[in-house]
Amino acid sequence: MSELSELGERDIVASLIKKFDPNGTYALGDDTAILDYGKEILLITTDTICQKTHIPEKAKPQDIGWYAAAINLSDIAAMGGRPLGMLFSLGLPANTPTKWLDELTDGIQECCSKFKVPVLGGDTKENDSITITGIALGTVPKSEILRRTGARPGDIVAMTGKLGRGLFWEQDKENNVSQFLRVEPQLKIGQMLAESRAITSCIDISDGLSTSLHLLASASNIGFEIEFDSINLIPGLNAKEKMLALHYGGDFELLFTIRPDKADLILNLPDITQIGYVIDDISVSVVKDGVSEPLPDRGYEHFRD
Ligand SMILES: [Mg+2]
Repeated sequence: MSELSELGERDIVASLIKKFDPNGTYALGDDTAILDYGKEILLITTDTICQKTHIPEKAKPQDIGWYAAAINLSDIAAMGGRPLGMLFSLGLPANTPTKWLDELTDGIQECCSKFKVPVLGGDTKENDSITITGIALGTVPKSEILRRTGARPGDIVAMTGKLGRGLFWEQDKENNVSQFLRVEPQLKIGQMLAESRAITSCIDISDGLSTSLHLLASASNIGFEIEFDSINLIPGLNAKEKMLALHYGGDFELLFTIRPDKADLILNLPDITQIGYVIDDISVSVVKDGVSEPLPDRGYEHFRD
């Protein structure tokens, strides 16, 4: 009998989309679900974190709580949305200290308060290992929604912030567990991009820049030429580690494409960097020292080794 490990997360998701939305009626496969809701679009998303894959050994419960809220809000940001509220479902071992749950929910509360998002409900169940599922709801005006589809050849590709948070943490786990989990959802800038009407496609970089580029490319049926030198790295990583940083998860910046006639407007905003162009050919390549080479999809994938 075949196992999930032979498929990997992306093939599993593709087959589930085929099953639940065979005619593409609900446009599954974006950063959030989208539901027509009068003048607005209702955005709904869920993201689970598990002890095995997401919770580093020395992580503090407050930081885990923050992370569980922030990664869901990051998907609302990727659609240009305003969050309405969140729900949390917790699976926890019966011998979990009550203090641990207090601190976990303090972290959830801290993140939700910062972004003015009420916690509207949830569920708690006994489980062998820690599982935390967040659900975030949001809205965006129909005319402003940011989708993964819509990039056209000649558009500019850009990202917020700097690359390398995930890799930096991986290399310095002892000191940076807290820093790694304190993800900042880019809600403000996501809304600004949506209001500009200059953005043709958008995604959050959760599983590595290379994976996000490939996801945008296949959703929009285009390709990318990335200029290696134009990508900004976070302080603490050196030039040698830059290629590796392109494939690491945990960055949670926004990656998006801009209509060329509005590029100046967007690229003048703080903390936004052009990293390349959209091309006609369905491929992703990176230009380094004047040489163009393919950038494979090597980001993180669940169920794989
Ligand atoms: Mg996402």
